[in-house]
Amino acid sequence: MGADIGVTGLAVMGANLARNLARNGYTVALHNRTVARTDALINSYSAEGAFVRTESLTQLVEALEPPRRVLVMVKAGAPVDAVIDELVPLLDAGDIVIDAGNSFYEETRRREEALRQKGLHFVGVGVSGGEEGALHGPSIMPGGSAESYQTLGPMLESIAAEYHGEPCCAWVGTDGAGHYVKMVHNGIEYADMQVIGEAYDLMRSLAGLEPGQQAQVFRDWNTTDLASYLIEISSEVLEQEDELTGRPLVDVITDSAGQKGTGRWTAISGLEVGSPVSTIAESVFARSISSQRTLRQQAQQVFTAGVSTSVAATDLYASEDAQQDFVEDVRKALYASKLVSYAQGFDMLTAAGEEYGWDLDMRTIASLWRAGCIIRADLLDTIMKAYEAPAGQRPANLLFAEEFTEAINECLPAWRRVVAAAATYGVPAPVFSSSLAYYDALRAERLPASLTQGLRDYFGAHTYQRIDKPGTFHTRWSEDRSETEV
Ligand code: NDP
Repeated sequence: MGADIGVTGLAVMGANLARNLARNGYTVALHNRTVARTDALINSYSAEGAFVRTESLTQLVEALEPPRRVLVMVKAGAPVDAVIDELVPLLDAGDIVIDAGNSFYEETRRREEALRQKGLHFVGVGVSGGEEGALHGPSIMPGGSAESYQTLGPMLESIAAEYHGEPCCAWVGTDGAGHYVKMVHNGIEYADMQVIGEAYDLMRSLAGLEPGQQAQVFRDWNTTDLASYLIEISSEVLEQEDELTGRPLVDVITDSAGQKGTGRWTAISGLEVGSPVSTIAESVFARSISSQRTLRQQAQQVFTAGVSTSVAATDLYASEDAQQDFVEDVRKALYASKLVSYAQGFDMLTAAGEEYGWDLDMRTIASLWRAGCIIRADLLDTIMKAYEAPAGQRPANLLFAEEFTEAINECLPAWRRVVAAAATYGVPAPVFSSSLAYYDALRAERLPASLTQGLRDYFGAHTYQRIDKPGTFHTRWSEDRSETEV
């Protein structure tokens, strides 16, 4: 009997997924370009399950029971192609190559097509949960053919996180759908972290709440609608003291946020499929501006006007009552902004589904994010319910679901107060502000896009439509300014 699955690429993610598979009773053949990594894994963890040591991809393939399943967990990008190129001549029709790294969905689409033409299955799988998730149960978002999921599915479901006994793993759609859904997960994760950052900044800059005090605020918030992994760990990070200086750790960490690219991909894809994912884009830009440290230092010298108000924020929020009211306002602004960012994320998935021919099921996608991944939150259960209605009756936008419309109505006055305070006192809150602008744009009876169309027609004869009759029109701006139908 050969091994059930082979894993090539045994850095942190590959090693932990291999151990997770072995712990669940599968025989796992191991391979890594540098053999020392394979040996290190076997030396440390052979007691956890059945591993087969191999030194080359040829040996790895030979060790597998057909139809073969090879999980590729090497560095995303060119290394994935290099491994596939070496692997493909060794495989037979019906074998399955799985890429569970952070590959760009367009590359997955390209690879899937190329392997399909050779009679092989190529399955791009989104995996979230970091190294701990990979070992103990990640959220798994597989794409590829429905046929490949029949053999692969039970295996992936057995190693996935569970939410009330249900695995956080389900086939999401063909070719690159799995990597796309994971990408949007990461985009939403950027927005989730940015709104947490904005809440922290506002509470600190305006109400003077120190990180240690805010740790308790976040702990309290974790018992509300905001309950989620990221809110939970925010309290842990905020209460952490720096070993070296005794100051709050958050005060000694450089304020430049890194990024590996999935947020940027999400924003770009949102633009490409014509879906306004402003909260995600603003979160990516917020990280970009945070990284422009030299420019920011220069700006501090140049922009001396800053803020001029009759009442200082510290006076405004001096009393304990005022402080508590403000904290509650910020909580509501955070929740409303978060709802907008999820609404935008799901909107984008709908648009991408149409663009790429994926039959994405929003309820299933929400269910996959309830455990194991970074954005896991009680909110996802409510989102699932919103998509439970029969086709045709599902909300066109998540914010139209009754429970979310009510929640937005409830949060709205606080949300407006917080955005106004941020603008008045000069605290940057790009996602709080842009999510409110999105909400107001959605509900506006008239948008100034009519003027935009007029301007476009003026300088470029781009034409416009009228509200009162069908057709396409142009005004002869440089002649007698009469209107003509084109
Ligand atoms: P890395 O991304 O750091 O990649 C290292 C692995 O890739 C090593 O096994 C290395 O082999 C192998 N490798 C690199 N280049 C080649 C090549 N040309 N040919 C063959 N093998 C090569 O590993 P991670 O475990 O961090 O991540 C794996 C994938 O999972 C990535 O796509 C990553 O983005 C994704 N991911 C990572 C998460 C995390 O928390 N780290 C979370 C979710 C996804 P060698 O040992 O010989 O150098």
